[in-house]
Amino acid sequence: MAFDLPYLIGWAALAITVSAVIFRTAYRLGRDVEARYHEKLEEHQESAFYYKGLNYLLSDEQDKAIEEFVKVVRINSETVEIHLSLGNLFRSRGEVGRAIRIHQNLIARPNLSTAHRTSALYELAEDYRQGGFVDRAVEACRQVLSVDPNHARTLSSLLMLHESEGRWDTALEVLQRHKKVTGTPDPRREAHLLLRIGQEQMEGGTLADEESAIDRFRSAVRIFPGCVEGYRLLGEAHLARGRIGEAISSFATLQKTRPTHFFLVVDSLLKAYRSQDDITGFEKFMVRAVNGPSASTRLIILWSRYLEERERFQEAIEVLRAGTQKHPSAVGVAKQLILMLSRMNRWQEAVGVAERCLDHHLSRQPVFQCTQCGFKAQDIYWQCPQCHQWDTMEPL
Ligand SMILES: [Zn+2]
Repeated sequence: MAFDLPYLIGWAALAITVSAVIFRTAYRLGRDVEARYHEKLEEHQESAFYYKGLNYLLSDEQDKAIEEFVKVVRINSETVEIHLSLGNLFRSRGEVGRAIRIHQNLIARPNLSTAHRTSALYELAEDYRQGGFVDRAVEACRQVLSVDPNHARTLSSLLMLHESEGRWDTALEVLQRHKKVTGTPDPRREAHLLLRIGQEQMEGGTLADEESAIDRFRSAVRIFPGCVEGYRLLGEAHLARGRIGEAISSFATLQKTRPTHFFLVVDSLLKAYRSQDDITGFEKFMVRAVNGPSASTRLIILWSRYLEERERFQEAIEVLRAGTQKHPSAVGVAKQLILMLSRMNRWQEAVGVAERCLDHHLSRQPVFQCTQCGFKAQDIYWQCPQCHQWDTMEPL
């Protein structure tokens, strides 16, 4: 096994390293000793300032961090990374003007690498965005993307900029590019952008506009099946065009996909059933929804009010009573039940409901709190389990 390949490569690497070291040493020896001494000192200072700055940054002392970084920049104005960090620090402290100046100065350097120029432009876009200079921010983003069309953070900034301008269709285009680049979809955002576009189309007023808007609403709920506003708009649009069955089925789908938020479309659902003179159908729907496993307390209260308005007090009370059993911590349901019982002079029962609700809350409330760290507990601890100080707990 005299000379196999890895053995030879190993030796060659070692030989190259050694000759490089020898060459460097010889080179250094040949240089002016005093100049070298100053250079060394500056290098040493530079890294000292840099590490001090970094430490301040980590301990969240931004003022001191900036001071150290400024010293680094004074010694070595070539350090692009430090300039970038300094600019970002200024921006994060709300000193947008200073951040803009630093990033603009960087971009103006003729010998800047493309990667550094892109970073500086991106940061400048962020400065402008935070400063509220939307047009300039958009322009800077576009410049970054012309160099690097897949710059994900820029796409995400540009998306927010277009959202803030209310340019929903452009925002949607950017979102789709962002999705392609990152591989991460954002269905909630995409759905809501589609809804905004659809709502604007609705304002066009023509039949074609409305149909196109309905298409957008449909896409939105397909992309994000829990989109409450999507089902509401879709249902309302169907209602406006007299397609009652389709309207009801939109609301019914929402009740299945996001039952916690169903109470938000109850008014529209009632309107739909009313327009086809089917109040019984509405009530059947509501009874099913209120008794469903994910019925929200808001839905229970809404339904009890509907019954109360129609003087069906006993039914309303039963709905609320079942509600307090299912959600013992829901103060809103208890309050509604107490009010209704009082109105019917059923005081004893009302007091009972109030007592149970209060008991439930008291049993969960902490009684003592540590004055040192804020730890709360129902029992007193002579040594706080969180900060380990002695005798610091006071009753709340
Ligand atoms: Zn403590």
